[in-house]
Amino acid sequence: MTAYEYETHDYDVVVVGAGGAGLRATLGMAEQGLRTACVTKVFPTRSHTVAAQGGIAASLSNMGPDNWQWHMYDTVKGSDWLGDTDAMEYLAREAPKAVYELEHYGVPFSRTEEGKIYQRPFGGHTTEFGEGPPVQRTCAAADRTGHAILHTLYGQSLKHNAEFFIEYFAIDLIMSEDGECQGVVCWKLDDGTIHVFNAKMTVLATGGYGRAYFSATSAHTCTGDGGGMVARAGLALQDMEFVQFHPTGIYGSGCLITEGARGEGGYLTNSEGERFMERYAPTYKDLAPRDYVSRSMTMEIREGRGVGEGKDHIHLNLSHLPAEALAERLPGISESAKIFAGVDVTKEPIPVIPTVHYNMGGIPTNYFGEVLNPTKKDPNAVVPGLMAVGEAGCASVHGANRLGSNSLIDLVVFGRAAAIRAGSVVDAEAPNPVLNQTSVDAALDRFDGLRHAKGNVATAELRLEMQKTMQADAAVFRTDKTLAEGVEKMTVIAGKVDDLKVTDRSLVWNSDLMETLELTNLLPNAMATIVGAEARKESRGAHAHEDYSERDDENWRVHTISRVDGNKVDLSYRPVVVDPLTTEKEGGISLKKIAPKARTF
Ligand SMILES: Cc1cc2nc3c(=O)[nH]c(=O)nc-3n(C[C@H](O)[C@H](O)[C@H](O)COP(=O)(O)OP(=O)(O)OC[C@H]3O[C@@H](n4cnc5c(N)ncnc54)[C@H](O)[C@@H]3O)c2cc1C
Repeated sequence: MTAYEYETHDYDVVVVGAGGAGLRATLGMAEQGLRTACVTKVFPTRSHTVAAQGGIAASLSNMGPDNWQWHMYDTVKGSDWLGDTDAMEYLAREAPKAVYELEHYGVPFSRTEEGKIYQRPFGGHTTEFGEGPPVQRTCAAADRTGHAILHTLYGQSLKHNAEFFIEYFAIDLIMSEDGECQGVVCWKLDDGTIHVFNAKMTVLATGGYGRAYFSATSAHTCTGDGGGMVARAGLALQDMEFVQFHPTGIYGSGCLITEGARGEGGYLTNSEGERFMERYAPTYKDLAPRDYVSRSMTMEIREGRGVGEGKDHIHLNLSHLPAEALAERLPGISESAKIFAGVDVTKEPIPVIPTVHYNMGGIPTNYFGEVLNPTKKDPNAVVPGLMAVGEAGCASVHGANRLGSNSLIDLVVFGRAAAIRAGSVVDAEAPNPVLNQTSVDAALDRFDGLRHAKGNVATAELRLEMQKTMQADAAVFRTDKTLAEGVEKMTVIAGKVDDLKVTDRSLVWNSDLMETLELTNLLPNAMATIVGAEARKESRGAHAHEDYSERDDENWRVHTISRVDGNKVDLSYRPVVVDPLTTEKEGGISLKKIAPKARTF
């Protein structure tokens, strides 16, 4: 028996997370007539989605010809042929519908002269199956698209009968003896009470784990809590070695300058003032995908052509663009450049460097959002009662590399898909599950153990060790040597969890304890990332391995499945889904078009 008293709440569905993915799922679940709770550790509109700048991809064809097949092709190629084809088709096909739905919900998109939704070019988005010029596919609300979407979705969720539990921290999943998810145990941050959510369906929408690294564009709340909970439940994580570095984080602060800046005509230069992307990607230049541009920038710096005193960063030039265009299309980043780099973008270049931005890997799901527990016998086995959406999940539409503006669309398409699926698999009339008390107690025992931790290592100290190791050894360029060293260091670091020290024992607004819980979530994510990276002997998308510079489809066109137990990671592999949802005859894409080939730009 646990020492903690708690209140139990019965719902059909509990959604953990109120970012774009969590809110779209919450809203959809409520629309399906399911009693829905949404639990979130921060106020909904403070979720990281609010920081998304550039936009949301959908083939609306408002600014020139486009169609879902081209969008799908770009996503397949962008993923470096590691994405699941059925999910990528679903994403590209459903995208326009999802964006019009957002428009009708009230998202204040920027407009064209004719009043249509404004769309800008983004890296890796092309026409004619990569044969034509860049396309304008990214729908934008100036450079504050995530802000506009998040506020609109929150308003819409309130309009429906979803109930919000704000500043509740989810500690762990409740799992039945036979592996069914029954809900989640939470700690209410402002009064210290414990709450157990008993639900027929639990949806993890907890976002990414950028904070496993030292320099990241993501919020301090992006600590991979969903992945941590899943790992502790003995379930799998997928493709964690694929971490996206955004080419243009502001040097020093890591604050993001959207790819939309290059979409609007910005370009990169080295210490010789050369537009070097023309050499690496003759066709798409500065609008090649992110992994490609980040790698090219790193090469320039390594070869001594970086800018600044330490020759350790690159310049992003916008000053040739008309001041009115900057003020209208990129007001937010003009302000960020001023605050974080002291630069007036109308006159000077912005100092930038590749910065951790997005986690392609996450909790494996099918394209309905249902969590997978892959086994040898059934690589697509579903975990009953558990879904994952958004950056926490891995559907997998981004494979080894995500295209810019494909995450926001992933949030709404799969948030909606999960709701539709729950509408058919959750029986609102059925009684709630009888909770597995052992699982509830285990969650609270772990919580209590950390609350009273009396070891020698402070949380902030261990977190910094992890962040520095990940930044140095699981970076843009990877070698056998750096990865092996990184695995060794991370194994020691993750082992120190048992020696943590928490000084504040209270239960009310105890940020020391909350950060410790978050650290215990970051660590399994980091372990899976570095161990998966060490094992993958090829280069694909964001995983650029200097000792194996080629992609190896014969041996490595597979998803990495990792199960993390403390500082040990057990790896296995799951086949990539290669079949699309529809055949060419049914109006789908030709298999020939999406067959693997060299990825050049
Ligand atoms: C600076 C920046 C700019 C970006 N720009 C773009 C862009 O222009 N276009 C694009 O497509 N993508 C962009 N991205 C990526 C995209 O914004 C993110 O991938 C996406 O917003 C993630 O949404 P999410 O709903 O999955 O999670 P988040 O928005 O991160 O929300 C996570 C939610 O989970 C909750 N939560 C987490 N842990 C717990 C817990 N233990 N208990 C309770 N609640 C919990 C949080 O409170 C929060 O509500 C950008 C990312 C960054 C960092």
